[in-house]
Amino acid sequence: MAENYPREAGLRPAQGCFINNRWEPSSSGAALPVIAPAEGVIFAEIAAGNAQDVNRAVAAARAAFEGGPWSRLTATERGRLLMRLSQLVTDNLEELAAIEARDCGKPLRAARADIQATARYFEFYGGAADKFHGEQIPFMNGYYVTGEREPLGVTGHVIPWNYPAQMTGRTLGPALAMGNATVLKPAEDACLTVLRIAELAAGAGFPEGAVNVVPGLGHEAGAALAEHPGIDFISFTGSPQVGTLIQTAAARNHIGCVLELGGKSPQILFDDADLDAAVPVVVAAIIQNAGQTCSAGARVLIQRPIWDRAVSLIAAKFSALKAGLPDDEPDLGSIISARQKERVEGFIARAKEQGVPVIAEGGIDPKAPAGGFYVPPVVFGPVPRDNALAFDEVFGPVLAAIPFEDEADAVALANGTEYGLIAGVWTRDGSRALRVARQLRGGQVYVNAYGAGGGIELPFGGTRKSGHGREKGFEALYEFSALKTIVIKHD
Ligand code: NAP
Ligand code: MG
Repeated sequence: MAENYPREAGLRPAQGCFINNRWEPSSSGAALPVIAPAEGVIFAEIAAGNAQDVNRAVAAARAAFEGGPWSRLTATERGRLLMRLSQLVTDNLEELAAIEARDCGKPLRAARADIQATARYFEFYGGAADKFHGEQIPFMNGYYVTGEREPLGVTGHVIPWNYPAQMTGRTLGPALAMGNATVLKPAEDACLTVLRIAELAAGAGFPEGAVNVVPGLGHEAGAALAEHPGIDFISFTGSPQVGTLIQTAAARNHIGCVLELGGKSPQILFDDADLDAAVPVVVAAIIQNAGQTCSAGARVLIQRPIWDRAVSLIAAKFSALKAGLPDDEPDLGSIISARQKERVEGFIARAKEQGVPVIAEGGIDPKAPAGGFYVPPVVFGPVPRDNALAFDEVFGPVLAAIPFEDEADAVALANGTEYGLIAGVWTRDGSRALRVARQLRGGQVYVNAYGAGGGIELPFGGTRKSGHGREKGFEALYEFSALKTIVIKHD
């Protein structure tokens, strides 16, 4: 339990909940410890927000949306605020990256890239705010019909701990661009940059109530937000289990939701693939964020004739990998928590017990603190198709290599899990690339590339157990708005 971890001297104190552009103490009066997972020490505290805090945040957002200064801004003005926020995130990049790296246990260079992406989200949606519009619809003589995009109202947002800053940009950017007032519940395990970004939003000039953040536990603050009758839409990224709770709560309130729930995304290496180009991408796509990425390339499907060559290239890279402290430029950082580490180690231990061969294993930097939650990266293969590693999401640096026979087999295997988020296809045959891409289930398919987490401009989302709806790109603006048809009779 968190109480057993050493507490750093000069702990960052809890600031509270960010409501109406002010820090408000949580009505629970309680604080939660924040652990630096790469070190296993408590270095900060956050407020344990509860249902009453969520009530206050939703009321603040409602007031902002219904007649408050926020509701009176033009799309251009909202866009400018987002641009200003983007600039403030950029101005504070080093501070935010250092916090993110420590809070998540990720390499500092990765945290910097995350903060750059966060700024880019606000920039993209700032630019989009006044360029997204409805249209005039041809109808009967004597009628004029417009379809207007309008905001949904108060939007709820529940995000995970793997990319706290980026997720904030991804989900708040389009919601704010469309004029919604937002309440966000970040993950207890990592949310310090989210709180800082809320403060920067106030500094950028967002009026009271547009951006509210209530930190706290999922089953308290998160559940209270999801179930709140005062929200008009909810966006969730996290586990399929909690996704079901969110969708059930949304159904009770008759509101919509967008769910992004992870995956078991495949990269398919056909026998004509450029392996020199593919292998570094295959490795990076599973060790990025220590495998804790919804769109991690967790399976590599390899056509039999190139199995030996591909596996030996992957093995050479994997055995050189080292997990370590954020500041030491490691290949990967730590896992987010002791609980997640145990979960990942459970997958690895079971696969070994079941006799799944280990192709290669990386290591842990000897300088990494013993109390950190490190898991050395490992690639298993050939993984039997009925083994958990072939279809369950591990959410750690564990790659499953699986051989396949031909195109039809590759497609069946790639689509053979309950998930469907993204996929990669590696081949020099353009016709095959397109044929296969069209058959793969999921929201994104990359050809001779793979973009775990990248691409602010690119609509992203899943199907079935990976969730539904789309965030990122212009598509998110549809999610966070509704179409109103206005019919005017003019004769
Ligand atoms: P999780 O429980 O689904 O957490 C995601 C968010 O939901 C957090 O903010 C969490 O709050 C909140 N939450 C938890 N219970 C809730 C409830 N009853 N009502 C409303 N909100 C609630 O995920 P996790 O436990 O951190 O991770 C478990 C597994 O989920 C991972 O191993 C991975 O497979 C998957 N996952 C996927 C993604 C992704 O990007 N798709 C991200 C994270 C995890 P607290 O954490 O503060 O309690
Ligand atoms: Mg933490």
